Amino acid sequence: MNVIIFGPPGAGKGTQSQNIVNKYNLFQISTGDILRNEIKNKTEIGIKIDKLISEGGFVNDEIVDEMLKNFVTNHKYRNRIIFDGYPRNIKQAKNLESMLNSDNQSINFIFNLKVKREIIEKRILGRVVCEKCNKTMNEYLNKDEIENHECGKNFLKKRKDDNHETIVTRYDEYMKKTKPVLDYYSSRSYFHEIDGSEKIQVITTKIDHILRV
Ligand code: AMP
Repeated sequence: MNVIIFGPPGAGKGTQSQNIVNKYNLFQISTGDILRNEIKNKTEIGIKIDKLISEGGFVNDEIVDEMLKNFVTNHKYRNRIIFDGYPRNIKQAKNLESMLNSDNQSINFIFNLKVKREIIEKRILGRVVCEKCNKTMNEYLNKDEIENHECGKNFLKKRKDDNHETIVTRYDEYMKKTKPVLDYYSSRSYFHEIDGSEKIQVITTKIDHILRV
Protein backbone atom coordinates (compact mmCIF):
# COMPACT_ATOMS: atom_id res chain seq x y z
CA MET A 1 0.00 0.00 0.00
CA ASN A 2 0.99 3.64 -0.52
CA VAL A 3 0.05 6.24 2.09
CA ILE A 4 0.18 10.04 2.17
CA ILE A 5 0.30 11.88 5.47
CA PHE A 6 -0.60 15.58 5.57
CA GLY A 7 -0.37 18.13 8.34
CA PRO A 8 1.19 21.53 9.03
CA PRO A 9 4.75 21.74 10.41
CA GLY A 10 4.76 20.38 13.95
CA ALA A 11 1.64 18.25 13.40
CA GLY A 12 3.51 15.02 14.14
CA LYS A 13 3.72 13.63 10.58
CA GLY A 14 7.23 12.33 11.14
CA THR A 15 6.38 10.66 14.44
CA GLN A 16 3.26 8.98 13.07
CA SER A 17 5.00 7.98 9.82
CA GLN A 18 7.69 6.28 11.85
CA ASN A 19 5.10 4.25 13.75
CA ILE A 20 3.37 3.16 10.54
CA VAL A 21 6.69 2.31 8.89
CA ASN A 22 7.66 0.00 11.73
CA LYS A 23 4.33 -1.74 11.97
CA TYR A 24 3.52 -2.17 8.27
CA ASN A 25 7.01 -2.53 6.91
CA LEU A 26 6.79 0.56 4.71
CA PHE A 27 9.37 3.16 3.72
CA GLN A 28 8.97 6.76 4.85
CA ILE A 29 9.86 9.19 2.09
CA SER A 30 10.20 12.58 3.75
CA THR A 31 11.05 15.25 1.20
CA GLY A 32 12.08 17.54 4.09
CA ASP A 33 14.64 14.96 5.27
CA ILE A 34 15.91 14.38 1.74
CA LEU A 35 16.38 18.12 1.23
CA ARG A 36 18.03 18.62 4.64
CA ASN A 37 20.42 15.83 3.74
CA GLU A 38 21.41 17.68 0.57
CA ILE A 39 22.18 20.72 2.71
CA LYS A 40 24.16 18.68 5.21
CA ASN A 41 26.21 17.09 2.42
CA LYS A 42 26.73 20.50 0.80
CA THR A 43 25.69 19.22 -2.64
CA GLU A 44 25.06 21.65 -5.48
CA ILE A 45 21.32 21.50 -4.77
CA GLY A 46 21.91 21.72 -1.01
CA ILE A 47 23.87 24.95 -1.35
CA LYS A 48 21.14 26.37 -3.59
CA ILE A 49 18.23 25.62 -1.22
CA ASP A 50 19.87 26.23 2.17
CA LYS A 51 18.71 29.84 2.64
CA LEU A 52 15.23 29.19 1.25
CA ILE A 53 14.57 26.31 3.66
CA SER A 54 15.92 28.21 6.67
CA GLU A 55 13.49 31.03 5.83
CA GLY A 56 10.53 28.62 5.55
CA GLY A 57 9.89 28.85 1.78
CA PHE A 58 9.05 25.95 -0.54
CA VAL A 59 11.72 24.41 -2.75
CA ASN A 60 11.25 24.49 -6.53
CA ASP A 61 8.90 21.71 -7.81
CA GLU A 62 11.37 20.43 -10.43
CA ILE A 63 14.02 19.74 -7.78
CA VAL A 64 11.63 17.94 -5.44
CA ASP A 65 9.84 16.01 -8.23
CA GLU A 66 13.12 14.69 -9.56
CA MET A 67 14.23 13.50 -6.13
CA LEU A 68 10.91 11.82 -5.49
CA LYS A 69 10.99 10.04 -8.85
CA ASN A 70 14.10 8.15 -7.75
CA PHE A 71 12.13 6.55 -4.93
CA VAL A 72 8.79 5.97 -6.62
CA THR A 73 10.40 4.21 -9.58
CA ASN A 74 12.72 2.12 -7.40
CA HIS A 75 11.56 -1.51 -7.12
CA LYS A 76 12.56 -1.71 -3.48
CA TYR A 77 9.96 0.89 -2.49
CA ARG A 78 7.20 -0.15 -4.89
CA ASN A 79 3.74 0.03 -3.23
CA ARG A 80 5.39 0.42 0.18
CA ILE A 81 5.76 4.16 0.53
CA ILE A 82 4.49 6.62 3.09
CA PHE A 83 4.80 10.10 1.61
CA ASP A 84 5.63 12.67 4.29
CA GLY A 85 5.85 16.25 3.03
CA TYR A 86 4.82 15.49 -0.56
CA PRO A 87 2.68 16.54 -2.40
CA ARG A 88 2.68 20.11 -1.10
CA ASN A 89 0.85 21.79 -3.96
CA ILE A 90 -1.59 20.81 -6.72
CA LYS A 91 1.15 20.49 -9.32
CA GLN A 92 2.99 18.00 -7.13
CA ALA A 93 -0.25 16.09 -6.43
CA LYS A 94 -0.86 15.65 -10.17
CA ASN A 95 2.77 14.71 -10.71
CA LEU A 96 2.54 12.05 -8.00
CA GLU A 97 -0.60 10.53 -9.50
CA SER A 98 0.87 10.37 -12.97
CA MET A 99 4.10 8.83 -11.64
CA LEU A 100 2.17 6.18 -9.70
CA ASN A 101 -0.31 5.50 -12.52
CA SER A 102 2.39 4.95 -15.08
CA ASP A 103 3.88 2.29 -12.79
CA ASN A 104 0.50 0.65 -12.02
CA GLN A 105 0.58 1.92 -8.45
CA SER A 106 -1.96 4.01 -6.58
CA ILE A 107 -2.58 5.89 -3.35
CA ASN A 108 -4.40 3.68 -0.85
CA PHE A 109 -4.71 5.89 2.25
CA ILE A 110 -4.50 9.60 2.92
CA PHE A 111 -4.33 10.98 6.46
CA ASN A 112 -4.71 14.62 7.33
CA LEU A 113 -3.48 15.52 10.82
CA LYS A 114 -5.41 18.64 11.77
CA VAL A 115 -3.78 20.83 14.40
CA LYS A 116 -4.50 24.44 15.33
CA ARG A 117 -1.77 27.03 14.83
CA GLU A 118 -1.57 27.89 18.56
CA ILE A 119 -0.74 24.27 19.38
CA ILE A 120 1.81 24.03 16.58
CA GLU A 121 3.57 27.18 17.77
CA LYS A 122 3.75 25.79 21.27
CA ARG A 123 5.07 22.45 20.05
CA ILE A 124 7.77 23.93 17.84
CA LEU A 125 8.76 26.91 19.97
CA GLY A 126 8.91 24.76 23.09
CA ARG A 127 11.01 22.04 21.48
CA VAL A 128 14.34 21.32 23.15
CA VAL A 129 16.75 18.57 22.17
CA CYS A 130 19.36 17.04 24.47
CA GLU A 131 22.78 17.31 22.84
CA LYS A 132 23.96 14.30 24.78
CA CYS A 133 21.19 11.70 24.39
CA ASN A 134 19.19 13.27 21.52
CA LYS A 135 15.87 13.13 23.38
CA THR A 136 13.28 15.70 22.29
CA MET A 137 11.14 17.40 24.94
CA ASN A 138 8.89 20.41 25.22
CA GLU A 139 9.46 23.30 27.63
CA TYR A 140 5.72 23.87 28.00
CA LEU A 141 4.47 20.30 28.03
CA ASN A 142 7.21 18.31 29.76
CA LYS A 143 8.32 20.63 32.59
CA ASP A 144 8.94 17.84 35.12
CA GLU A 145 10.73 15.67 32.61
CA ILE A 146 13.04 18.56 31.71
CA GLU A 147 13.70 19.39 35.36
CA ASN A 148 14.66 15.76 36.08
CA HIS A 149 16.41 14.99 32.80
CA GLU A 150 19.25 12.59 33.53
CA CYS A 151 21.88 14.34 31.37
CA GLY A 152 21.27 17.64 33.14
CA LYS A 153 19.55 20.77 31.83
CA ASN A 154 22.75 22.24 30.36
CA PHE A 155 22.64 19.84 27.44
CA LEU A 156 19.14 20.87 26.37
CA LYS A 157 19.30 23.08 23.26
CA LYS A 158 16.82 24.68 20.90
CA ARG A 159 17.11 24.02 17.16
CA LYS A 160 18.23 26.95 15.01
CA ASP A 161 15.20 26.69 12.72
CA ASP A 162 12.63 26.56 15.53
CA ASN A 163 12.08 30.31 15.59
CA HIS A 164 8.85 32.25 15.53
CA GLU A 165 9.45 33.92 12.17
CA THR A 166 10.13 30.68 10.27
CA ILE A 167 7.19 28.88 11.84
CA VAL A 168 4.81 31.60 10.71
CA THR A 169 6.14 31.49 7.13
CA ARG A 170 6.01 27.70 7.02
CA TYR A 171 2.49 27.59 8.38
CA ASP A 172 1.29 30.26 5.95
CA GLU A 173 2.93 28.51 3.01
CA TYR A 174 1.22 25.31 4.09
CA MET A 175 -2.22 26.90 4.35
CA LYS A 176 -1.87 28.76 1.07
CA LYS A 177 -0.39 26.04 -1.11
CA THR A 178 -1.20 22.74 0.58
CA LYS A 179 -4.79 23.41 1.66
CA PRO A 180 -5.95 23.21 -2.01
CA VAL A 181 -4.32 19.76 -2.20
CA LEU A 182 -6.45 18.62 0.75
CA ASP A 183 -9.56 19.98 -0.98
CA TYR A 184 -8.50 18.07 -4.10
CA TYR A 185 -8.31 14.78 -2.17
CA SER A 186 -10.99 15.27 0.48
CA SER A 187 -13.91 13.66 -1.38
CA ARG A 188 -12.05 10.38 -1.88
CA SER A 189 -13.14 7.39 0.17
CA TYR A 190 -9.62 6.76 1.45
CA PHE A 191 -9.13 10.32 2.78
CA HIS A 192 -9.18 10.41 6.61
CA GLU A 193 -9.05 13.46 8.82
CA ILE A 194 -7.50 12.91 12.26
CA ASP A 195 -7.31 15.24 15.25
CA GLY A 196 -3.55 15.83 15.47
CA SER A 197 -3.78 17.65 18.79
CA GLU A 198 -4.39 14.39 20.67
CA LYS A 199 -1.67 12.36 22.37
CA ILE A 200 0.79 10.53 20.09
CA GLN A 201 -0.49 7.08 21.08
CA VAL A 202 -4.15 8.03 20.56
CA ILE A 203 -3.39 9.20 17.01
CA THR A 204 -1.32 6.08 16.28
CA THR A 205 -4.20 3.86 17.39
CA LYS A 206 -6.70 5.71 15.20
CA ILE A 207 -4.45 5.44 12.14
CA ASP A 208 -3.80 1.80 12.88
CA HIS A 209 -7.53 1.01 13.01
CA ILE A 210 -8.03 2.53 9.58
CA LEU A 211 -5.04 0.77 8.03
CA ARG A 212 -6.07 -2.60 9.44
CA VAL A 213 -9.45 -2.65 7.64
P1 AMP B 1 9.37 19.39 6.41
O1 AMP B 1 10.47 18.61 7.06
O2 AMP B 1 8.38 18.53 5.69
O3 AMP B 1 8.73 20.39 7.34
O4 AMP B 1 10.08 20.27 5.25
C1 AMP B 1 11.07 21.22 5.54
C2 AMP B 1 11.23 22.17 4.38
O5 AMP B 1 11.65 21.45 3.20
C3 AMP B 1 9.98 22.91 3.94
O6 AMP B 1 9.75 24.07 4.73
C4 AMP B 1 10.30 23.24 2.50
O7 AMP B 1 11.20 24.32 2.43
C5 AMP B 1 11.06 22.02 2.03
N1 AMP B 1 10.17 21.00 1.42
C6 AMP B 1 9.89 19.77 1.93
N2 AMP B 1 9.05 19.09 1.10
C7 AMP B 1 8.80 19.91 0.06
C8 AMP B 1 8.00 19.80 -1.12
N3 AMP B 1 7.27 18.71 -1.37
N4 AMP B 1 7.98 20.87 -1.97
C9 AMP B 1 8.69 21.97 -1.73
N5 AMP B 1 9.46 22.16 -0.63
C10 AMP B 1 9.54 21.13 0.25
